[in-house]
Amino acid sequence: MSSSKGKIITVVGSGLIGRSWAMVFLSGGYRVQIYDNQAGQAARALLEVRKQLEELQEAGMLRGDLSATQQLALLTSHDDLPQALKGAFFVQECVFEQLEAKQEVFRAVESHVGDDVVLSSSTSCLLPSNVFSQVQNRKRCIISHPVNPPYYVKLVELVPHPETLPAVMDATYALMSEVGQAPVRLRKEIDGFALNRVQYAIIAESWRLVKDGVISVKDIDLVMSEGLGMRYAFIGPMETMHLNAPEGLQDYLQRYSQGMGRVLEAFGPVPDFSGEAASQINKEMCELIPSDHEHLSARRERRDQLLMGLAALKK
Ligand code: NAD
Repeated sequence: MSSSKGKIITVVGSGLIGRSWAMVFLSGGYRVQIYDNQAGQAARALLEVRKQLEELQEAGMLRGDLSATQQLALLTSHDDLPQALKGAFFVQECVFEQLEAKQEVFRAVESHVGDDVVLSSSTSCLLPSNVFSQVQNRKRCIISHPVNPPYYVKLVELVPHPETLPAVMDATYALMSEVGQAPVRLRKEIDGFALNRVQYAIIAESWRLVKDGVISVKDIDLVMSEGLGMRYAFIGPMETMHLNAPEGLQDYLQRYSQGMGRVLEAFGPVPDFSGEAASQINKEMCELIPSDHEHLSARRERRDQLLMGLAALKK
């Protein structure tokens, strides 16, 4: 399924992630039919995608071999689900993060497509066995969990339903690779998938260190952005261990595993992320970046610019 252009992908839900997926698939030359159940929303999404593709072209950051105009010619918007699904070989669902909403969407989608169409969900934290529980043929179901914004952060976690065929995992992996994303395969479903399990471990320990008065909000963020994050943008924790001892991973473990164990044993309980600690951390954060729309938008824009630069550097 991965190499043929002119094929159709349907994106269901045209919010932040739906629009980004549309742009990613367009960059690979796929025809994209975007649908939203709010009348007029998919049409507005199309205008937003147009604006973004034109700006990216202007900035020399447009992905793929096609111009913005050529990519836009491949995109249509729909208020009607059966029409949006016509001819699709792959459906990427991006509706609200509500189990019932997703179950209902997949029930409806399945009634309008053939048995061989891959049904893929963008869910951040719902398990495939729940999301696809109302689907009759679950062998073609998979989660393709992107990272926001997927146009610059290319990781996609592919998480199978217990019944998903290996061929569906392989085909989705090939599609994601072809459109320039960086897919990873989870071998089985697990709450939080891989990315959020690692992310939550980092958030929890950062929270405990601030709450216990060890470090400020500003400085714990610098520990990541000027320290760990610098190398983690290029190499992961396993490779880090391998490179950080003269003789590689085994050598690293001999030198440091005892210390790692001691520190890990001393970690506190899971924070409840509420009460006085939450108020204090929020206060410190808002002193650094006020939480009004203007400041947050400016920071997001800066983040996206830096991510764009990093993505270009990694090419
Ligand atoms: P969003 O609120 O921006 O957009 C959701 C869109 O879905 C809206 O346009 C809404 O009108 C539409 N919608 C709702 N119910 C629908 C239905 N039954 N049929 C068709 N359209 C429907 O949300 P988002 O941030 O784009 O998130 C979408 C999915 O992506 C969620 O599952 C979320 O967990 C996941 N996700 C989000 C992020 C993120 O950072 N925003 C990152 C990774 C994954």
